[in-house]
Amino acid sequence: MGHEPPVVEAGVASGLCRAQRARRLANLLNLSTPLGLAVARAGGARRRPGPYGLVLAEGYGFRFPVAGAFTVGDVIVTASTFDALLRRHPGLLAHEERHSRQYAVFLGLPYLPLYTLAMAWSVVRTGDRSSRNVFERHAGLLAGGYVERPAQPLTATLSGAVNLLRTRRSPRR
Ligand SMILES: [Zn+2]
Repeated sequence: MGHEPPVVEAGVASGLCRAQRARRLANLLNLSTPLGLAVARAGGARRRPGPYGLVLAEGYGFRFPVAGAFTVGDVIVTASTFDALLRRHPGLLAHEERHSRQYAVFLGLPYLPLYTLAMAWSVVRTGDRSSRNVFERHAGLLAGGYVERPAQPLTATLSGAVNLLRTRRSPRR
């Protein structure tokens, strides 16, 4: 068993505002931050304290989820490094911190199915996971490195779904 670095405790006294402390406590108690730490550990990511009282985990070894970075509780996980990500998207950590606040507001783990529903709705409306995803819009599409796509008519969505079903049904060769 390896020694666990005290990443969650680090930075408690280092000038976090009251809202950030409340978020950290909420995400600790609602188990989303412990889940994030477990996900980071399972993926072999290196952890270090980040701004806003976040935990940054880099070098995550799995391919899922595919996004440049994803947030579970107060833990921001990437397969890349944050130096590389922040060079491309300087507002990324502020964006991810808003996701952390969303976890706190939705009491931790219930946020995950809600986020999945919002993502599915966005795919139906725009063909894209974030453009009409209420959580990504609240966190800031541009800061998250997303390009907003326009909503498409529902007829286009339906004909796309029908085509997909037809393709699925055709026999494999
Ligand atoms: Zn996001």
